[in-house]
Amino acid sequence: MSLSQLARSISESPTLRLNETAALLKDRGEPVIHLGGGEPKSKAPIDAIVSCTALLRTGDVKYTPADGIPSLKKAIIRYTEEHYDRLVVPENVIASSGAKQSLMVLLHAILDPQEEVIFPAPFWVSYPEMVKIAGGVPVAVTAADGSFQPTVDEMAQAVGTYTKAIILNSPNNPSGVVYSDDFVAGVMELCEKRNLYLVMDDTYNRLIFDGRTPTNCYRFSKDLNIDSSKLVVINCVSKMYAMTGFRIGWTIGAKDLVRAMTNIQSQETSGPSAPSQWAAVGALTGVQSCIESLRLTLENNRNIMMTRLEAFNGVKIVKPGGTFYCFPDFSAYEKDSQKLSRMLLEKVRVVTVPGKEFGMEGHLRLSFCGTPKDVTEGIERIKWALDPNSPNELYLGNRRLVRDWQ
Ligand code: PMP
Repeated sequence: MSLSQLARSISESPTLRLNETAALLKDRGEPVIHLGGGEPKSKAPIDAIVSCTALLRTGDVKYTPADGIPSLKKAIIRYTEEHYDRLVVPENVIASSGAKQSLMVLLHAILDPQEEVIFPAPFWVSYPEMVKIAGGVPVAVTAADGSFQPTVDEMAQAVGTYTKAIILNSPNNPSGVVYSDDFVAGVMELCEKRNLYLVMDDTYNRLIFDGRTPTNCYRFSKDLNIDSSKLVVINCVSKMYAMTGFRIGWTIGAKDLVRAMTNIQSQETSGPSAPSQWAAVGALTGVQSCIESLRLTLENNRNIMMTRLEAFNGVKIVKPGGTFYCFPDFSAYEKDSQKLSRMLLEKVRVVTVPGKEFGMEGHLRLSFCGTPKDVTEGIERIKWALDPNSPNELYLGNRRLVRDWQ
C-alpha cells in the first residue's frame, strides 16, 4: 500500500495496544490483571454528568467555537486563578479534545521542520511520535546518574540552534517522579535565557502524595506578562477528574499562540465535542472532593505497591511522588523490557508496559490505578514468575500454573 513517509515512521501507541490485548484476553475469560492501565477506576463526578445530560436533553447539540464554549473558558480561567494564582483572559485559553490534542495542536503551532523538542527520559510514550507528526525532531535527555530527573546542565547541553521547546511532565508518566522546584526553576531560567517554549504538561498536577503541594510553574517565571511569555501550561479533566473518555484538555498561553492554535484546530477538528465540554464545565465548577478522594485512594494503592515491591530482591524502585505509575528497574531479572512484559502476560496474565517505550530499558511501568487487590495480586504473580525461589505452583482461580522456567 502506498503510505506517506510520515505514516510509516509513526508507531502505534503501545499503551492503547496493551489495553486492547487485555480486553481481548478478559473477554476470553482469562484471569488478566491489568497493571498497564492509564486511567482511574472511579466514576466521572456527578456534576459533570448532570451538566452534560442537561445539554443532551435539549437535543440541541451543535458546533461550538473552535477554541471552546465561553462557559468552559470561564471555568478554566477560574481553575487557573485558584490553582496557579494567575489571572488570564479568554484569549489565553483554548480547549481541545484531550491533553493529547492540546499538545498536538501546540506542536503544530510552534514547530518548523527539523526543529527540536527536548524532554527528560523517561518520557510519556506519545511525545516523540507527536513531535515527529508535527515535523520536528524529538530529543530525550537521560540523567547520567540513572535517576529519573536529569540535571539542568544536562538539559542545557541538549539545547542547540534547532531547539524550539522543552516539555516537562511532573508528576511524571511513567516514573511518578515529581520534579524538584530547583529543577523546574532551572529549566524555566534556561528557556527564558535561550528564548525557548517551556511546555508544562500538568495532566497529573494535583495527584501527588506525602503532603506535597502541587507545583505552580508560574512561580518560577520572570516574565509576568503572559502574552510575551513562552511558558505554556497544559491540563485536562482526564486523570484528575477520572474523565478520560470525555476527551477534554486545555492550554494556557500567550494570545498570539492561542490564536494560531485555534486556527489550526478550527481546520483540523473544530471545537471539542459539545456534551464533553459541558461535562468539563460541571467537573470544574462542581464539588471538588472527588480529586482528594481519588488522590487518597491512589496514595493508598501506591503504598501497597511499594510494600509488595520492596519484598522483591533485586528490583530497584523509586517511590512515586504522584500519578498512578511506578517504574521499577527489573534489569536484574531481564534486561529486555519488551521480552519481560511479554513473558509476564503469557505466563501469569499480568499486563505491564515495557520501559523501552518510555525511553528506559530494563524497567516496567506498573500502574496502581486499579483496586488494591489487583495491585497486590499483580505484584505477587510477577514475583512468582521471576523469583527462582518461588514455590513451584500458583493457582489463578482454579487454574494451576507450574513454574517450568528459570
Ligand atoms: N500527557 C500525559 C503525560 C499523559 O499521561 C496523558 C494521557 N495518558 C496525556 C497527556 C493525554 O491526556 P488526554 O487523555 O487528556 O488526551
